[in-house]
Amino acid sequence: MADTLKPSDALIVVDLQNDFCPGGALPVPQGDQVVGVMNRWIRAAERVGAVIVISRDWHPPNHCSFETEGGPWPVHCVQNTPGAEYHGDLHLPLCALYVDKARDPDRESYSGFSGTGLSQALRRSGVQRIFIGGLALDYCVKATALDGLAEGFEVHLILPATRAVNVNPGDGTKALNEMRSAGAMIQEDDP
Ligand SMILES: [Zn+2]
Repeated sequence: MADTLKPSDALIVVDLQNDFCPGGALPVPQGDQVVGVMNRWIRAAERVGAVIVISRDWHPPNHCSFETEGGPWPVHCVQNTPGAEYHGDLHLPLCALYVDKARDPDRESYSGFSGTGLSQALRRSGVQRIFIGGLALDYCVKATALDGLAEGFEVHLILPATRAVNVNPGDGTKALNEMRSAGAMIQEDDP
C-alpha cells in the first residue's frame, strides 16, 4: 500500500545527474528510467507542501574518488560540466532544497547528510519521515537512507525510483537487505 505524503514529510531525490544515466561517465543501468517516477513523487510532494530535497554529486576535478587520483571511479560529476547537470527531464521545483555533496577533493561522501547540514534543515522544518529515490541504490541512496535512520528519521525507500550500479552482481539486493535490517521501509507504489 502506498503511504500518502504529508506536509511533515521530506522527499529526497538523490543524484539524478547525466553522468549516472546511460551515456554518462558512470552510468547506472536504466538510471534514466527512474526520472518519470521521481517526477510524479516530486509533484505529489509539491501538492501537499512536503519538503523536497534534491542532491547532486558535485566534485572538484581532482576528487579523491577518481581513478586519476587513485580512487575507484572514473572521473564523473565534475562541477560545472554537462555530466554533473541534472537529467534534462527531471522536474526541479524552485522551492526545493538543493544539496551539493562531495565537494572536498580529499573526502568521499556518498550520503546527502554528510557535511551538508541536511539533518538540521529537516529538523528545523519539523520533518519526521523521509522518502528517498534516485541513484545509485547501492551507493548514495543506501548511504543517505542509513544516515537518515541514524539521524532518527523514519525512512522509506521508493523502490521503483531507484536502480543499482551492481559493480558486483547482487549489490543492489544486498543494499536493500541492509536498509531493511536497519529499519527502512520499502515503498513499491506511486504516492
Ligand atoms: Zn561521486
